[in-house]
Amino acid sequence: MNDPILELFGAAAIVVIFVVMIEIITGFLRPQARSWAPVLIGLSLLGLGGLITLTDTPALWGSEADPGLMEAGGFQWNIVCFLGGALFIGTGFIRQLALGRGREYVQRLNSALASTSRELSSSQELLSSIVRSSISGVMILQAIRDEAGIVVDLEVRLVNEEAEQLLGRSKDALIGKPLVKNLPCIRGEGLFHDALSVIETKLPFRDVRCCNHGDRDRWYQIHAVKHGDGIVATFADVTDQRQVEDRLRHAAQHDTLTGSPNRSLFTERLEQAINRSRRLPNYLFAVLFLDVDHFKTINDSLGHEVGDQLLISISQRLRANLRSMDTATRMGEGHLPARLGGDEFAVLLDGIRDVRDALLVAERIQKELSAPHAIAGHDVTATASIGIVISDGRYERADEILRDADRAMYHAKKSGKNRHVVFDEKMHSEVVNRLSLEKELRSAAEHGEFRLVYQPIISLETATLVGFEALLRWAHPERGIVLPKAFLGLAEDLGLIVPLGRRVIREACHQLKKWQTCHPGGTRLTMSVNISKQQLSQADLIPAITDLISEAGIEARSLVLEISETNMIGSATNLVPVLNQLQAMGVQLAMDDFGTGDSSLSFLHTLPLDIMKIDRSVIKNVVSKQDCASIVRTMVLLAQNLNMKVVAEGIETREQLAHLKNLKCDYGQGFLFGQPLEPQDAEDLLSSDFRFTIAA
Ligand code: C2E
Ligand code: MG
Ligand code: MG
Repeated sequence: MNDPILELFGAAAIVVIFVVMIEIITGFLRPQARSWAPVLIGLSLLGLGGLITLTDTPALWGSEADPGLMEAGGFQWNIVCFLGGALFIGTGFIRQLALGRGREYVQRLNSALASTSRELSSSQELLSSIVRSSISGVMILQAIRDEAGIVVDLEVRLVNEEAEQLLGRSKDALIGKPLVKNLPCIRGEGLFHDALSVIETKLPFRDVRCCNHGDRDRWYQIHAVKHGDGIVATFADVTDQRQVEDRLRHAAQHDTLTGSPNRSLFTERLEQAINRSRRLPNYLFAVLFLDVDHFKTINDSLGHEVGDQLLISISQRLRANLRSMDTATRMGEGHLPARLGGDEFAVLLDGIRDVRDALLVAERIQKELSAPHAIAGHDVTATASIGIVISDGRYERADEILRDADRAMYHAKKSGKNRHVVFDEKMHSEVVNRLSLEKELRSAAEHGEFRLVYQPIISLETATLVGFEALLRWAHPERGIVLPKAFLGLAEDLGLIVPLGRRVIREACHQLKKWQTCHPGGTRLTMSVNISKQQLSQADLIPAITDLISEAGIEARSLVLEISETNMIGSATNLVPVLNQLQAMGVQLAMDDFGTGDSSLSFLHTLPLDIMKIDRSVIKNVVSKQDCASIVRTMVLLAQNLNMKVVAEGIETREQLAHLKNLKCDYGQGFLFGQPLEPQDAEDLLSSDFRFTIAA
């Protein structure tokens, strides 16, 4: 081979290499362009290398080896071609491989990007549909920060139509505007601070706020959460709901008859006052506890309608009085008059200077209440007894203050009514005693500390024992025997009298059965048991008594239930049905302590009674006071007319006995015949065939 051919080959090889390099580079630059060119070139080069080798091999041509082509220019061209071919084929394959992988990856990336962007746009559509269709107002706010990075305001970024309507502003008037200036109706300043706290604390905010729309207030429930450097707030108009709640709250906290705050609201406000007095050492308040004097009598004599009107008039006067006080004094303005129930009222005097303020108010109230109330053509005069408690830091609960004010009111009543009394230390110790008595009383029933004693009842005509009255005793482990007067009232207040009263009836009936069985003539004996008003109003009284009688195996006739006159007054009409049922069962009914209450004699006609027990206070003076003797005579005549037997209580002397016998009393009971006796002593009395010698 000569040199020009060699040069031609060399030039061709260089051109081919150059073209291939360009192809490779552009192939990499355009990864998607798949090309087999490097491989083809590689194969061509291999072919070329082979050709050169064949051309220059003498064995093949039958002559001496001519290294012309193979070694032209000092190169082994066939080797160069082989190497170049291998290089091209290798890089061609690698490129194809890389391109395939890369394309796959790019495709995956592209499809992921496409689906993400699809999802994004569908989420955006969904979000915008939710925002648009939301029945709540939606608002997105962005923090506006000053150079120091402090949030100075919030800019409205997005509002939906509902928000426009609720706020009474158009989108244009809201978007891009700062919040504080834009929403004065929702007290913008407060809202800004709430929004700020959501941004800073990242805690959600929920509250109900009032928004003033010109002449009317609307209530919005607002809920806000942090979003980026701002908040997303949703709000709904809850005015209707709020109004219903307000009405319900008002109904729950106000008395239906008088419209005054009731016990529940009063207690709530009192608790607030207690908390305030703990925080502010100079803050003083007072509670006035009012009870209308003789309200029962007014109710009974003039009727419930007049009674109700009187209560309304009293609460109106209390309200007017406190209103005028606000302007006349320098006291706080949170005074609250309330009706606690029945004829009981209370007044909270907020921020008094000292006890003199409370006394002044009590005097004014008493003066104003005592002026006649014109009701249904009557001039009704009513006075009130007032108990006063001044806050002194020792109170922790509203009921403690009311309890003490009630106690002071009770003292005002006791000292002559139409008075006011300030709760003091002496009363405090009374209350403390009462509390400890309450505790002891509750456990006394469990520990079986109650028992019965029996006082004989004598026939004044025959001087024989006709029966016993069962009287309750409390065998106190430290104080010894405690009389009913000391604990009955409290037992009634605590509702303990009902179970206790049942035990009394059961024990007395069993005791009677025993005596009736064991003693000759005992079958005629009766057992009188005192029964309280609370027991009488128990729905299951009749079946309970029926059971107790049959359980003991006595005749209903031998049980006498004694009801105190004071318990009957005011409730006679209510009691008639239950008394009728008891009488129909055969149980005898006695009016106890007759002559102590204010009952009119005609009121006896209305009640189904068998026995009248004239009170000891009348019997005591039957000898010394002529009018007492006349009263007893009238009572006996009345009882005879009503077909009732008469028992004279508390006979202590023979003179009294003689008088009462003359006045035709049927039976007598008193220390003259016998003290209340322990069961064994009463049994001994029965065994001795007791007969009292009555002087003629
Ligand atoms: P009461 O039913 O009028 O009972 C008569 C009270 O007068 C008894 O007082 C009796 O001890 C007392 N007494 C009787 N004769 C004389 C006397 O000649 N002179 C004096 N100074 N007192 C005499 P007691 O036992 O203290 O009972 C007081 C009241 O307690 C009873 O008055 C009754 O109302 C009530 N009570 C007693 N036991 C019970 C009971 O089991 N249940 C209820 N609900 N009340 C009861
Ligand atoms: Mg009695
Ligand atoms: Mg009595």
